Amino acid sequence: MEETRWDEAIASFVSLNLAGHIVNCNQTFADFVKYTKVELNGAHIEHVLNNAGRFFFHSLVYPKLRAVGQVEDIYITLETKESQLKDCLFSAKLFNEHDQAVIDCIIFPVSRQIKYEKELKEINKRLEEVLKEKEALHTTLIEKQQQLLTLNKELKRYATRDWLTKLYNRRVFLDRLEQAIHRFNRTGESFSLMLLDIDYFKRVNDQYGHSVGDDVLIHLAHTMVYHQDLSFTSARFGGEEFVVLMPDLTEKAATEAAELLRAHVEKDQFFTVPITISIGVSTFTSSDDSDTLILKADKAMYKAKQSGRNKVVHYNQISHDTQ
Ligand code: GH3
Ligand code: MG
Ligand code: MG
Repeated sequence: MEETRWDEAIASFVSLNLAGHIVNCNQTFADFVKYTKVELNGAHIEHVLNNAGRFFFHSLVYPKLRAVGQVEDIYITLETKESQLKDCLFSAKLFNEHDQAVIDCIIFPVSRQIKYEKELKEINKRLEEVLKEKEALHTTLIEKQQQLLTLNKELKRYATRDWLTKLYNRRVFLDRLEQAIHRFNRTGESFSLMLLDIDYFKRVNDQYGHSVGDDVLIHLAHTMVYHQDLSFTSARFGGEEFVVLMPDLTEKAATEAAELLRAHVEKDQFFTVPITISIGVSTFTSSDDSDTLILKADKAMYKAKQSGRNKVVHYNQISHDTQ
């Protein structure tokens, strides 16, 4: 290495002969031990070692150098010209130069090593923190995705269900009605509809309050679902009016199904307030569309109200009545 660079190197370099005399050293080493290079040249390395260092050199460094040709990262204490003790990390390698044994040594102040280790520890600590933060973020992300999925499900539910009774809403009912009409056009399979309305429901609200009224609506919805065929579509049509689509059921069977429901509601002991319902039934014919079918059921229901409430009337009965 070029002389000036060698002298200005960060580490201390020292070359010793086999007897331990300094044959060469750089300025860094001279500055470190506070001697001049001239003073050091030819001096024994023990000159810059404290007692423990000397003992250590004899008992460990020399034997190991002889045995394996090198020593690495050994802690030794150097003693400066001003009797100051300096802890160092010492590495050395034995070379044969022109049949002369030379021991090249590198000496590093330990304080610097400790500083690097401290920095490394801090970097590792920060790395661990960053990893933990990343993990936490990942967990939050998964939680948020889960919440989003649940919200989406709820949103879908809100779009198809009535918020109070959790029955299907009017839109779903009208869709199913259109599907039933398409099926009728294809197969000729008739179907029926019931429209039901609570009798004197205003009184329930007036006497017991709106929230009791709400409970009655919820319980009626449960009763409808519980006592009906799974193929039926029950929906809240609006206010305290409900509709039920009954696939495959013609006049007689549909009227019987409506009568069963009416009787269940009348007998039910679990309503907060006892109620009765009036039901209008209509059955689809080739001259009907969704509007006329609903209108017929509405007319039949009106007839049920007129004739004393707590009744089931099929639209076809009104026709007979009026004829
Ligand atoms: P009728 O036998 O002729 O049907 O008498 P009614 O008192 O039931 O009369 P109507 O059907 O006109 O009254 C409906 C009442 O239902 C009026 C309204 O305050 C009430 N209502 C509508 N929607 C709700 C609701 O979501 N909750 C409650 N508690 N009441 C409702
Ligand atoms: Mg009403
Ligand atoms: Mg009513």
